[in-house]
Amino acid sequence: MENPYKVALVTGGSRGIGAAIVRKLAAGGFNVVINYKNSGQVAGELAQAVSSQFKVEALPVQADVSLFSQVTEMVRQVQEKFGRIDVLVNNAGITRDALLARMTEEDWDRVINTNLKGVFNCSKAVLKIMQKQRQGRIINISSIVGLRGQVGQSNYTAAKAGVIAFSKSLALELARWNINVNVVIPGFTETDMTMQIPAGARNKIMEQIPLCRPCSPEDVAGVVNYLASGEANYITGQVFHVDCRVV
Ligand code: NAP
Repeated sequence: MENPYKVALVTGGSRGIGAAIVRKLAAGGFNVVINYKNSGQVAGELAQAVSSQFKVEALPVQADVSLFSQVTEMVRQVQEKFGRIDVLVNNAGITRDALLARMTEEDWDRVINTNLKGVFNCSKAVLKIMQKQRQGRIINISSIVGLRGQVGQSNYTAAKAGVIAFSKSLALELARWNINVNVVIPGFTETDMTMQIPAGARNKIMEQIPLCRPCSPEDVAGVVNYLASGEANYITGQVFHVDCRVV
């Protein structure tokens, strides 16, 4: 089935899981917007690579998703270039791990503002465009620890749990405009984010993985690509685990 959705905005599309999502969607014919905060050069190189390999348009756009004013300016630029936004992937995320006793207010605010408020900011900024189109897909990247908790990650787990609840509410609100909202939960994926975990803790996680390998960014991108496609027309308000650990 040909994909009827043609412009995809991926937040945190410069590196890791986001970059794999950009490549996958571009390979399927999407024009892609690669949002980043700091990695301008990497985002620019990725844009050049996917546009020449897949013959699509790729636009790198700098915006801090935690700041509504920067997000609205990003969406304005996308609208100016492409005239539409069919898929929003809220992927940008950070960690600032600490036990609550040592967690600073700044650690809390930065993680909540990026991982949860960022999802609100971007969803709100594309809303009118998708409503006018009477079609759209919002795909939010959460985490398994948002369901079960994790020592040293009370800020991150609160944000990721919030993303799931936010997505379910939004799915109910937006179904009448044919805007589907779903959540993807990646398994343990080797990216810059997980390289921050000490080796001992990483090895422990690996021992619990039945398929005996970490999730790859491409594994996650495959499910996001499916949810962005016409194959997923009847799916909204759902949570997809790209994982092999039984919960
Ligand atoms: P990563 O390699 O650290 O990449 C993070 C991306 O987010 C980068 O593109 C970064 O942009 C961007 N970003 C960070 N803060 C931003 C901000 N304020 N505004 C805009 N962009 C921002 O992380 P990852 O492992 O690919 O994680 C991607 C998503 O998957 C996150 O939401 C994470 O919580 C989630 N996740 C990851 C795992 C895992 O095992 N890796 C598991 C479950 C869920 P710059 O390059 O410009 O800094």
